[in-house]
Amino acid sequence: MSKHDKITMAHGAGGRVMQELISKRILDKFSASELKDLNIEVSLADLDDSAVVNDIVFTTDSHTVDPLFFPGGDIGSLAVAGTINDIAVMGVKPIALSCGFILSEGFAIEKLDKIITSMGETSRAAGVPIITGDTKVVDHKTLHSMFVNTSGIGMRNELLDRNIEIIKEYRDFNGRWLKDSNLKVGDKIILTGSIGDHGIALLSYREGIGFETELKSDVAPLNYLIQGALEIGGIVAMKDPTRGGLANALNEWSEKSDVGILAIEEQIPVKESVHSACEMLGLDPLNIGNEGKAIIGVVPQLADELLAKIKTYPEGKDAAIIGEVRSRVEIKGVVLETIVGGKRIVDAPAGDPVPRIC
Ligand code: MG
Repeated sequence: MSKHDKITMAHGAGGRVMQELISKRILDKFSASELKDLNIEVSLADLDDSAVVNDIVFTTDSHTVDPLFFPGGDIGSLAVAGTINDIAVMGVKPIALSCGFILSEGFAIEKLDKIITSMGETSRAAGVPIITGDTKVVDHKTLHSMFVNTSGIGMRNELLDRNIEIIKEYRDFNGRWLKDSNLKVGDKIILTGSIGDHGIALLSYREGIGFETELKSDVAPLNYLIQGALEIGGIVAMKDPTRGGLANALNEWSEKSDVGILAIEEQIPVKESVHSACEMLGLDPLNIGNEGKAIIGVVPQLADELLAKIKTYPEGKDAAIIGEVRSRVEIKGVVLETIVGGKRIVDAPAGDPVPRIC
């Protein structure tokens, strides 16, 4: 490293470059190994959707989406849903959120009102209240818009314990949380709906490409769907494929669980408008960020029952079993079986092909 090294957009894009920044520059400085009275079961080093300390699930997210309002949502609904989803995918019930605004001097109060109304509506619909917050204003030379940070906490409940008991009826399971590292050979992978909707809706609206007439962001809290899924049980891991898309999420699972993943292209739901936008722009739907989707790893014996349950929720109506976990010997990372019957390696994107979508 030289003193001239600078932050690039890729450092905040959720992919490999950001993970390197965290592991090389942050982890050792934030080490808390001397604090023996704390029980940190999922730490920063796990780079999971949330951390867990003394059985409290805790996560934070900053939102810089541009534009602030887009088809299907706005920065407010995005901030609330994103944090709720990161908590819920650990297998727990999200219980409360915080909200921090950074506003530019001169920002229209009318726009702020709309964003706050949207946050209130999304949080009430999900049953997760915003109970603390902070507001700062900076001069218009520093910022021309607004940013929102949301943090949230979740609590373990008996549904997660029961889910884990059900896993153990079928295979070994050591953990107490639904971590990225829990997958084992044979597990099936369910995707709760079509991919790429958020990134492509936002991009085409922002760039005026015109797909937005039919395409909306999928931004939505998934906590009710996830609670329903846990009622079936046998879920070993869950993740929301946000920045870096499905490709990044599956690669994180493959690496952390030390397994191979076979995904079947034909089974992955992609809307026609997303497909054609991606073709035109030279983008891969697998790399595009989502804000209302989850991937769920489940013991194979319960995959069909779980899929049927997920499909009863409006956010899960297009859900599908999109692949399965194989051994590292058979598949090194993530491999896609294509529609024409070939196979191709799916790498995690280095950065985000569509910046500032969340
Ligand atoms: Mg996440």
